[in-house]
Amino acid sequence: MPLTPTPYIWMDGELVPWDDATVHVLTPSLHYGWGVYEGIRAYATETGSAVFRLRDHVSRLRDSARVYLMELSWTDEELVEAVRELVRVNGHDSCYIRPIAYLGYGEMGVAPQLDAVRMSIAVWPWGSYLGDTAESEGCRLIVSNWQRNSNQTVPPLAKATGAYVNSALAKVGAQRAGYDDALMLTANGHIAEASAANLFLVRDGELITPPVSDGILPGLTRDCALTFARDLGLKVTERSVPRSEVYIADEAFLTGTAAEIVPVASVDERRVGSGVGTVTKQLRDLFHEVVRGRDERYAHWLERV
Ligand code: PMP
Repeated sequence: MPLTPTPYIWMDGELVPWDDATVHVLTPSLHYGWGVYEGIRAYATETGSAVFRLRDHVSRLRDSARVYLMELSWTDEELVEAVRELVRVNGHDSCYIRPIAYLGYGEMGVAPQLDAVRMSIAVWPWGSYLGDTAESEGCRLIVSNWQRNSNQTVPPLAKATGAYVNSALAKVGAQRAGYDDALMLTANGHIAEASAANLFLVRDGELITPPVSDGILPGLTRDCALTFARDLGLKVTERSVPRSEVYIADEAFLTGTAAEIVPVASVDERRVGSGVGTVTKQLRDLFHEVVRGRDERYAHWLERV
């Protein structure tokens, strides 16, 4: 999806015009992929813009930074304020927000200099990630033959820039084969997740999703779906999902900040259920109400701008 420039990008505490927000070509983050980032959304609500689960995203960014031995020079509160200010000055009530911590240059080599952590935050308007048809009729997935990064290779629970070549190989392959996205397997043949979203199945009214121990990113939208389902009294199970189980699910859907909650129409050319399932629809509709501040029960997840 093309980027729509906004007036300012936050760089190390300064608001910099979009076109001037550049980084030196010798940053080790470009050469070796050593950087951590987040993807967040702000939504328009009846009382103005609100950033969804901002503090949880900041906390996951800090966790990712810890895994990669990066010390952020900003407190959580400062980062929360920076995001709020940036959304305000750029004037988009509803937008995608991309904070990233990366390395300034100093030395070259595979062991990068870790004491020069820099940060930037950008925002831009971003519509539905998998496209409008995927949103309304469900997305078409394929199981990738690229295995998901594991805890023995590149830690999956940290959102690191370099780790995403794994997701990108799977996604590009899926798109070139004519599909919307790919599901990636663990070394044991369990489904881990899609390239940038978590997977849920519904079987006999029970909600099933792979556990964090199967090498997934602990998604915040995943946490929303789990919370909603429990609050609605549905049975919820986090357990390993073998590849073929997705073929026989009654319903399946993906969750992610960019993707939101998207029904799965087919996997490897097997239709999943019959169109958008009732549980999927219920959770998706609730999600859309909650992010727009229309459900008081979850108002604590909204950070007013
Ligand atoms: N898995 C991966 C690999 C992702 O990149 C994302 C997007 N951040 C997710 C899952 C979903 O996480 P969240 O709901 O927090 O956006």
